[in-house]
Formats: sequence, C-alpha cells, structure tokens
Amino acid sequence: MNKTWNESVRSSLKNANDCNEYFDNDRFQDGNFPIKIPLEFAKRIDKTNPLDPLLLQILPKERQSKKGFIDSPVYDEEFSPVKGLIHKYPSRVLLISSSVCAIHCQYCFRQNFDYDDNDVLKNWADIQNYLSKRIEVNEVVLSGGDPLTLSDKKINKILRKIESIQHIKTLRIHTRTAVVIPSRITEELIASLNQTKLKVVIVFHINHAQEISDEFVNNIKALRNHILLNQSVFLRDVNDDSKTLAELSYKLFEASILPYYIHLLDKVSGAESFLISDNQAHKIYKALQNMVPGYLLPKLVRDEGGESKRLVI
Ligand code: SF4
Repeated sequence: MNKTWNESVRSSLKNANDCNEYFDNDRFQDGNFPIKIPLEFAKRIDKTNPLDPLLLQILPKERQSKKGFIDSPVYDEEFSPVKGLIHKYPSRVLLISSSVCAIHCQYCFRQNFDYDDNDVLKNWADIQNYLSKRIEVNEVVLSGGDPLTLSDKKINKILRKIESIQHIKTLRIHTRTAVVIPSRITEELIASLNQTKLKVVIVFHINHAQEISDEFVNNIKALRNHILLNQSVFLRDVNDDSKTLAELSYKLFEASILPYYIHLLDKVSGAESFLISDNQAHKIYKALQNMVPGYLLPKLVRDEGGESKRLVI
C-alpha cells in the first residue's frame, strides 16, 4: 500500500547518520541547517554518482566566509508590517502560512528566517485588518516554509478566510512539497482548490528534470484547470548548463507546467558553494534562449529585497 503523505514526512531522513547509512557513504554531517530528505526524493538520487544533481541540493556544505553572504538576503523582516505577512509589491502580499518544509534545500534563502509568531491563522485578525484597508492588493501568495505541509483542513480554513476579503481575486501557492512528496496532491486538496472562487496559480519549485517523477506528473493532472508554473534556482553543479535547463523546460511542459522564473542565488550564509557568477549565468541563459521556444524560457531574475524582482536579461 502507498504511504500517505504524512507518513512520508515522518519517515524522512533527518540526520547525518541515517543519510550516511542510506546513501552508503560518509559525506553527510549535521550542520546549521538541519537535514530533511523525504524518501521519495532520496529514491530519485543515483547513489553511485557522487555528483548527482539531487544529492548536491540536500548535502550540507560547510559555511564559507564569502563577501556579500548574509543571514537574510531578501530582507523579508523589513517588509512585514504584520506578523505572518510580507508586503513588498503594491498588488500582492505573501503570507508565511507554514514554518515547515518537506525537504531542506541547503541553498534555501529562508534557512535563517525567524518563523516565530508568524502563524497566519493565529495572526489572522491583524492580517485581515491590514488587508481590508488595502484595496490595491488583489493577490495573496501562500508561502513558508511550504504551505502544502499544512493539513488539508487548515488549508481550507485559510482559503475561506482569504475569500472573505472581497478585493482578493487570486490565490498563489508556492510549493516544493508537491514535487518531493507527490502523494501530497490529495483528493481533499484538489477539491478545495477546485471549489474556491479565487483564481488559483500554483508555482512549483523544481531545479532539475530528474526531480519530476511519473507519480507527480500523474497526480497534478487533476490540477490542470489552474495555472501551473515553475521556478528554479540557478545552482552550481546542479543545473548550471543550458542542456540541463532545456531538458527541465521540456519535461515541465510535458507535465503542463510552464517555466516562470530562474533565480540567481540569493546570497544567504551557508549557500556559498552554490553560487555561479553573473557572467556564467548570462552565458548559459543566452545558450538556453536558442534551445527552447520563448514560452519555455524562464525569466532570469534576481531578488534584490524590497524592490521588484529585477530581470537580469
Ligand atoms: S522548499 Fe523552499 S523554503 Fe523550503 S527549504 Fe527548500 S527552498 Fe527553502
């Protein structure tokens, strides 16, 4: 019998010993950002390849002292007028709906974020009060952590609350959980998203075609009536070549997902080894432009904190 997604979360690899045993090596060490790897994701890693692009994303790296790397590179805290809500752009706000992720990506820009007191439901009265006065806001983004680590019941509750604000028309969900634990796409979740009067946009986070399993492709078929997009992060030794990125774009397209953004790495302390230079990123991106049609070309962006995302090309 297939595991439920909750069982998958519980059975994740969570420390260096378990990982070294599972991958039959001694490369894992417990570090600043705790290890968390669902077995579904671990199974997609080629244990015989020390440079496997999925392995490299979850293998803790030693912190290096590199100029420009800081704890909160996108300055989320400075744009949080109310606990649990981040407001950087006039028409949309982001809600920190969960402090939990199904996987810990070692390049994560929020790995040092202080999630304390950022619970959306706990702070809903203040959030509602803030949003009700800002009729220019028409979109709410559920982020985290990862909103799909919440129960279906809690997601439903949040949806009802967002729907109650008349000028909010669009709900966007940022998730990596759906990719790394495909059983997270439950019938209850599908029903909630199909029933809401909000326009739904789901933005997955996938960096490499190898992450996309048949189960994921099959399960998201039920979500094709929504807008399905993907964002990736440009990562050294993971997806820093045009062929890999072109393969990702085509695999996404087969699953009815369009590539949306590819982010230059946010310079968060602990992610130094993932950095590729702007120059190299430009060269790879230029080559990619010739390999895929425009609708499969993600926008190359850098999040500068506070300002709108800056298009790099
Ligand atoms: S899923 Fe997203 S928020 Fe969670 S660890 Fe990975 S990059 Fe960070």
